[in-house]
Amino acid sequence: MGHANRSEPISNADAAVGADWVALAAALADAPEDQRLRAQLATALTAAGRHEQAVAVLGAGFINLTDHDGPTLPCLCKRCLQPGLATAEAGDPPMAFVRRFAVARGRVLYFWAPRELADHRGLREGIEARLLARLGPPAR
Ligand SMILES: [Zn+2]
Repeated sequence: MGHANRSEPISNADAAVGADWVALAAALADAPEDQRLRAQLATALTAAGRHEQAVAVLGAGFINLTDHDGPTLPCLCKRCLQPGLATAEAGDPPMAFVRRFAVARGRVLYFWAPRELADHRGLREGIEARLLARLGPPAR
């Protein structure tokens, strides 16, 4: 409520990126049970470089089922996940990886994706399918 006086102007680029997650965050506040919306907000936060916030949003609604793994890349399991650590390098020559996530039925899996493929839709869908397969048929 009210408007904070900003001493510094926000660049247009920041405003454009910001508007996306701000609107989604407001929508989620009204519908905290909406898992699709929660995942969309986390995706928008990730795109905006707000990685710690993205992990907090995911953690509030999804159980992290990521397996304990390593040591090539930093482990992303519930215990090891470092919310602010969203990029890593591995290999020789070093290859850049970025952290992404997939959600299904109240669960989240984090994974490292090669930077060039990070926002490739098929990659996320493949991880989602794997997560769903692991969860088995929905209880009905
Ligand atoms: Zn771990």
